[in-house]
Amino acid sequence: MDKAIERFLDYVKIDTQSDESSSSVPSAAKELNLTKLLLEQVKAMGIPAYIDEFGILYGKLEGEEDSDPIGLNSHVDTASEESGKDVKPQYIENYDGKAIKLNDQYSLDPKEFPVLSAHIGEDLIVTSGDTLLGADDKAGVAIIMAALDYFVSHPEVKHHPICFCFTPDEEIGRGPDHFDAKKFGAKYAYTIDGGDPYEIAYETFNAAKVEVTILGKAIHPGEAKNKLVNACTCAFKFDRLLPATKRPEYTEGREGFNHLIGIEGNVAEAHMHYIIRNHDKKKLEEQKKEFQTAVKELEDRYPGCQVKIQIEDQYRNMKEVIDEHPEAVNTAVKAFNKLGLTPLFPPIRGGTDGATFSFKGCPTPNLGTGSYNHHGRYEFLSVKEFNLMIEIVKAIMTID
Ligand SMILES: [Zn+2]
Repeated sequence: MDKAIERFLDYVKIDTQSDESSSSVPSAAKELNLTKLLLEQVKAMGIPAYIDEFGILYGKLEGEEDSDPIGLNSHVDTASEESGKDVKPQYIENYDGKAIKLNDQYSLDPKEFPVLSAHIGEDLIVTSGDTLLGADDKAGVAIIMAALDYFVSHPEVKHHPICFCFTPDEEIGRGPDHFDAKKFGAKYAYTIDGGDPYEIAYETFNAAKVEVTILGKAIHPGEAKNKLVNACTCAFKFDRLLPATKRPEYTEGREGFNHLIGIEGNVAEAHMHYIIRNHDKKKLEEQKKEFQTAVKELEDRYPGCQVKIQIEDQYRNMKEVIDEHPEAVNTAVKAFNKLGLTPLFPPIRGGTDGATFSFKGCPTPNLGTGSYNHHGRYEFLSVKEFNLMIEIVKAIMTID
């Protein structure tokens, strides 16, 4: 087995699940178990690196002095949906296209996951059915380590200075909180934290959240006629006043959505929590107006009910930054073309740590890892695509 895959298999066996309920940084001390191992391995290659007070590993492999320093990032933590403890990866050679039995209870079946059919004849790494795999994002970590190893052991190959950092807490949305573009030192960078290796992603949502408070009028139901205003009923009505077609279950591609993520209340008072998303900033503003219109309509229709909304912006589409600094995408496209590949540019229906890096001064599109079905027991890695990603990263960094 090659060294890059061996490293990947070592990394997934280390439990690094982040912890949303914790306020410490990193959120779980065990995330550092992997970061510290990476520091040892990077130093063993002779590359200077350190872990800062926020648990971020920064390092730099020097390259051609007159060329732009290019950055790479992956996150060390795994998602909370499924355990990342005692991961026992299984190596499937020459996948035959049938359902893969993970354990007595669970199978990875192409009928349920058609993406598998694109990987017939490849070697795959799957879970034992009891945990997630953690290819998100330890495949990214292993790809970066393999690229560093290559340039260290091939000093004759000219390359850009490579700035790299490994971050904790991406899965709980705090990954980039303490990212420091100056410490990082890259002119632009790539997060290696996706699925499909043919994708270069640099469009994220613009995001906001809306908190709705509805005050009703509580009174004994026996004497309620023409007096009671039930805040819960008003809450249902409020949701119905928003366009149904903009619920996430009806949207895809570049269509934005309004997503009701929580509701609680009683007769006197109800609270609703929405997240709203759109790739287009103007359209997101229209969605905000729809909420304001719904407030007015609800108050008109139900005299006596009072509605308040609070709208707060969360993150912005990184395309804004990339449009100003297109070299990050151009360099990646050149690398793909050098390898005879044509990249795809799908809009991301979410945010990425790279979006925050971009607004912090380091334009950072996202690249794939060759892994799929993230955040659960059905996660798997295509060894062929993982190796292809190593070649893509090498091509990005190599100066001809
Ligand atoms: Zn990830």
